[in-house]
Amino acid sequence: LSETEQDVLDEIEEKNVDFLRLQFTDILGTVKNVSVPADQAEKAFTDGIYFDGSSIEGFVRIQESDMRLKPDPETFAVLPWRDLEDGASARLICDVIDTSTGEPFEGDPRRVLKNAIDRAEEMGYQVNFAPEPEFFLFEEDENGRATTELSDVGGYFDLAPKDLAADVRRDIIRGLESMGFEIEASHHEVAESQHEINFEYDDALATADNVATFRSVVRAIAAEHDLHATFMPKPIAEINGSGMHTHMSLFTEDGENAFHDESDEFDLSDTAHSYLAGVLEHAPAITAVSNPTVNSYKRLVPGYEAPVYVAWSDRNRSALIRKPAARVPAASRIEARFPDPSCNPYLAFAALIHAGLDGIENDLDAPDPVRENIYEFDEEKREEYGIETLPSNLGEAVDALEADEVVQDALGEHVFEKFVEAKREEHTGYRIQVSDWEKERYLEKF
Ligand code: GLN
Ligand code: MG
Ligand code: MG
Ligand code: MG
Repeated sequence: LSETEQDVLDEIEEKNVDFLRLQFTDILGTVKNVSVPADQAEKAFTDGIYFDGSSIEGFVRIQESDMRLKPDPETFAVLPWRDLEDGASARLICDVIDTSTGEPFEGDPRRVLKNAIDRAEEMGYQVNFAPEPEFFLFEEDENGRATTELSDVGGYFDLAPKDLAADVRRDIIRGLESMGFEIEASHHEVAESQHEINFEYDDALATADNVATFRSVVRAIAAEHDLHATFMPKPIAEINGSGMHTHMSLFTEDGENAFHDESDEFDLSDTAHSYLAGVLEHAPAITAVSNPTVNSYKRLVPGYEAPVYVAWSDRNRSALIRKPAARVPAASRIEARFPDPSCNPYLAFAALIHAGLDGIENDLDAPDPVRENIYEFDEEKREEYGIETLPSNLGEAVDALEADEVVQDALGEHVFEKFVEAKREEHTGYRIQVSDWEKERYLEKF
């Protein structure tokens, strides 16, 4: 056993951990668990834990293949909520190994992100990401099922202390901190019942692991308060949806921020400008991955602080990418404002990284920033500025993905094929539905 693995075994003993959840994600970003008694930990490290990969979405459907989970000891954390009478549960995030080759499974989203990070490393960079996931806290109905009833106002909460939402948020933050999260800030978002919790930047892999963990912690702790936390991008029409702004920077091997250059008007280096240009160029294809549900495109409409147009800005928040004001050189970074929290963070981050690195490799130049409110531009003005529009639905986004080799390569052949197949099916399933809006509008009119 390695030193870190031995530390994990010691901690299991010390903290009275009974059960271990071995965690990984499928292609759609759903967290999967295999639960094993804690005394299996050593065996999990040495031999791995075997499971049937054919039952996991997007893994292996046709050819029967056994998969093996290889726990990453760096990710050990005791879960802040109890699902067992006594003793604690802990989780370990795992890599998936294809047992027929003994190699990392190419359909494992964590592997896909590691490939992106490896490419950055070969170019001399370490990748830092920080996300700002937003979510709603809704009421549950009497059967414990989710509703879209706001938890901040009216009804049920008249009887509760006014700051119940703040209490829930505090519990969530405590839970996250006990799992090693460094919380930077949390606040009530623009919409009623909407919240945001920001955590400290970390390398891209740790951040993607954190996003996966974050979503389950938020949901579990909200449920303890009889609330449903949702990361659905646009649960209610005509008010702000939930995004997951993603801050990115590259550091050099000696710990310098490669995005910082104080001689530049925007404090951004040439490297940063090229990375930004790469993300802009590939944004339509990335959207399929970073905004992967039919509902994602209900958020990407003008007027709700979510981006619609492919442009960047050092000021306004209608742009796809913003350059936040940085207090210190280490904080020079760019913020992609289009991703939403329904994405598979491993795949979305991999797509962003490859697009950015591609910009650097091809020495792309970023266009001038746009400082006006782009929502108010008409088509003519957008044409004059050369501003493209993001895909307006999942089908168009998948078309863009199929036309973009850089983002396809980012996913790898296996994930790309499975992903497109799943998303085409999702979009078709949606397209054939008839909505309440249509019935209200047409039923009596025609
Ligand atoms: N909720 C907005 C979105 O959909 C962002 C609002 C904000 O963080 N200023 O991206
Ligand atoms: Mg924010
Ligand atoms: Mg926000
Ligand atoms: Mg932000």
